[in-house]
Amino acid sequence: METSRPPGTVQRPVAGGDLAVEVRALRKVHGRGAAAVTALDDVSHGFRTGTFTAVMGPSGSGKSTLLHCAAGLERPTEGSVLLGGRALDRLSERQLTLLRRDRVGFVFQDFHLVSALTVAANVALPMRLAGRRPDAGRLAGLLTRVGLHDRRRHRPAQLSGGQQQRVALARALVAQPDVVFADEPTGALDRASGCAVLALLREAVDELGTAVVMVTHDPQAARWADEVLMLADGRLVDRLAGADVTADTIADRMAALGG
Ligand code: ADP
Ligand code: MG
Repeated sequence: METSRPPGTVQRPVAGGDLAVEVRALRKVHGRGAAAVTALDDVSHGFRTGTFTAVMGPSGSGKSTLLHCAAGLERPTEGSVLLGGRALDRLSERQLTLLRRDRVGFVFQDFHLVSALTVAANVALPMRLAGRRPDAGRLAGLLTRVGLHDRRRHRPAQLSGGQQQRVALARALVAQPDVVFADEPTGALDRASGCAVLALLREAVDELGTAVVMVTHDPQAARWADEVLMLADGRLVDRLAGADVTADTIADRMAALGG
């Protein structure tokens, strides 16, 4: 199975580029009293435009919570999130919804497509919900980009898992967001389908300048990133960048965390 980066992609230095998202001293406690669980504990990081970041760590280390807080889907207990330079804690729910809609895409492990809608309608859904008419040319271009233009009238159930995830990715990109968060996007896919999704995430970074933040357990997936963050017990404990982003080094550091 070919798992290398597609030809022509370059691994960017992690310097340079504006911050698409910044989290500062993020702390998230789920529940309260005796049942309280600290999911994130003093996590700070800047996610740069045009940069692909992988987030790794053992199960329960706070990866999903970090994505949800950074995407404005969950409010942190303490600390702040800046999206395109705007502090989310100052926004009303309505403002937050609008900012999320315009600036953030999200991809889930289990696709979250609307089964009654066609591929094209699923991709266009965020625009429709925003009361905008999706530009037909852009929609066609996006469907072509993810290799599903000829499937645009099909329903999700008629597609493979890998194809469904590519629909979800096109939907995440339709509003031209600054950042796409992906929570184990290849977790339910075979390696070939996973690679196709990773190549598309990489392409969004390299060609569209999107910031991509992806949770994964798989060192082979993480090595598509420019930067790898490691969480353990809600803390940011390790970071790999540049030439250190290899499957072997990632696997070694993961093993050191017991992940
Ligand atoms: P990961 O994605 O790395 O597996 P999560 O961010 O999902 O980790 O969870 C981090 C910790 O927070 C875990 O101990 C988990 O059980 C807990 N947790 C996550 N979501 C909730 C919730 N809604 N209520 C209570 N505890 C939660
Ligand atoms: Mg998770």
